[in-house]
Amino acid sequence: MSKKVAVIAIGGNSLIKDKAHQSVQEQYFAADETAKHIVEMIKEGWDVVIGHGNGPQVGFLLQKAEIAEKVANLAMAPLEVCGAQSQGQIGYQLVQCLQNEMKRAGVNKAAACVIEQTVVSKEDPAFQNPSKPIGGFMTEEEAKIKERDLGWNVVEDAGRGWRRVVPSPLPQRIVELDAIKALIDAGIIVVSIGGGGIPVVEREDGTLEGIAAVIDKDFGNSLLAQNLNADMLVISTAVEKVAINFGKPEQQWLDHMTLAEAKQYMEEGVHFKKGSMAPKIQAIINFLEAGGKEAIITNPENILRAIHGETGTRITK
Ligand code: ADP
Ligand code: MG
Repeated sequence: MSKKVAVIAIGGNSLIKDKAHQSVQEQYFAADETAKHIVEMIKEGWDVVIGHGNGPQVGFLLQKAEIAEKVANLAMAPLEVCGAQSQGQIGYQLVQCLQNEMKRAGVNKAAACVIEQTVVSKEDPAFQNPSKPIGGFMTEEEAKIKERDLGWNVVEDAGRGWRRVVPSPLPQRIVELDAIKALIDAGIIVVSIGGGGIPVVEREDGTLEGIAAVIDKDFGNSLLAQNLNADMLVISTAVEKVAINFGKPEQQWLDHMTLAEAKQYMEEGVHFKKGSMAPKIQAIINFLEAGGKEAIITNPENILRAIHGETGTRITK
């Protein structure tokens, strides 16, 4: 029997249900819920690589680093190191949840986390226009000191104070691709591509260095699905289905979209919100255009039903 490989990008709601449930322990319970549903898929013969978001978690780590710097003069943590820390923390939790849920379900498979770097290009236009706000608010004086001493890009944020902004370039290459492939070939469930990957740039001689940026997790996971020739890309998020005319009176939930329809809706520009659903649809368009056959968007509790064609939004060539 040939392998069926799925890349599953899990959204923020698989770790933080709402503002009142943000502790590490509560994130573990949320991750376990999602792990249960992924194990149902594994039970049906899927080999999976799971990528996850990390925006709030990196935010917490940055805030801790900022307080530690103020209170105890500890050196400020570089953003890409916070990204790596979040991959480690979330990866640990997800892997353990998967191991425990497989144990309970009688599935005899191993799971492992691969800390992953994603190459971005310094020529990416995003570096000309850093626009993603990260970390806490600062006074103008604090912001100017960071700009001078650490080279941060800082902007005034709608009268609320000053914030650091970083670029969000497109992912170009998954550095640990061969390692992920080897694990999948060995039948091991993989957690990787956390937060779209730790952003790195390639020096002239091919060596790598970390860079302060953030990568869209849906684009990062789409790139992995393309590189693995995955049979399916699953994007798990907070909605059961995708709608056109989202939030408008004529809103309509979709069971299915073709690639051509997805491109058409994207062009119309009114259906998918920028920064939430639009990048997911674009990530799926990229996967299908690169030869992928099908993709699904749904919420964690409906993953298996969506794979069986009972719900979710399916996007095919
Ligand atoms: P994630 O952490 O999973 O990436 P996001 O908040 O970035 O979550 O994206 C999912 C959200 O996108 C949904 O909760 C929904 O509110 C919003 N959304 C925007 N446009 C649409 C649409 N056309 N159909 C369904 N949901 C949409
Ligand atoms: Mg998102």
